[in-house]
Amino acid sequence: MTKAKHIIALVVCFAFSLLEAFAQDIKTFQVADNLYFVGDRTFSCFYITEASVIVIDPLDSTRAQATLAAIKKVTNKPISTVFYSHNHWDHISGGKVFQNTDTKFISHIEAKNNIAPNNAVITPTETWQGNTTSYDFENGQVLELFYFGPNHGAGMTVFRFAEHNAVFIVDLVVPDRVLYAYLPDAKPKHWVESLEQIQKLKFEKVYMSHMRVDGNRNDVTFMQEYFKALYAAIDKELANNTPFFDIPYAVKLPQYAHLKNYNLWLPMNVWRILMEKSIGQ
Ligand SMILES: [Zn+2]
Repeated sequence: MTKAKHIIALVVCFAFSLLEAFAQDIKTFQVADNLYFVGDRTFSCFYITEASVIVIDPLDSTRAQATLAAIKKVTNKPISTVFYSHNHWDHISGGKVFQNTDTKFISHIEAKNNIAPNNAVITPTETWQGNTTSYDFENGQVLELFYFGPNHGAGMTVFRFAEHNAVFIVDLVVPDRVLYAYLPDAKPKHWVESLEQIQKLKFEKVYMSHMRVDGNRNDVTFMQEYFKALYAAIDKELANNTPFFDIPYAVKLPQYAHLKNYNLWLPMNVWRILMEKSIGQ
């Protein structure tokens, strides 16, 4: 083998092992007889009903392929519906993987109206509006959808699986980590209000879209307490007349130091709340 060929072979080997490593990270989590989550750091959901399979959040095309493969492993029922949780590309750009002539793509009207142009994203074929709706499948299987107004992105939907007394909460409750960077496209005050509304829903189990699938009501409470501590720490610096632009580096929340990205993102979390305090949103 010439030196050049040898190097090419090595590079190809390396590329394949990278791909393999990536694919191996994507796992399937079965949480009930007919309810599954698939992903690595972001999770999509599939729900097997009497007649067909429902997907919530196709994510991107790589993860959508993994979800499709996971579905094919356990059922040959058709995929009838893809729900979008909200308008952000990282949750919805893999839809083409599930598309066939009959597949419905459903989102809240606010999500559809606020998807930034992207050729990879399939525009919802149906929308719903208002604060709640439900989709009835056979045998008492009901999927309830809730919208609490602007909080993270647009048209953010919380899904409740009635037969499992469980909710799927996307992006609004992310456990074991500080809030995502500078809270892009989020309305923190409304987010806090939405968490209060979520607490009023009936559920025992909570499934989440990032970090960890499996959770419960304590994860929602934890999120509320984190927001409360963040706001309080910022208010304290403001009351102490700490110079405005020093506040992101003055705020410390040692009780949350164990959370992922604490050092990197806490100052960004603070910036977002400070901006809300200074411009009103
Ligand atoms: Zn999002």
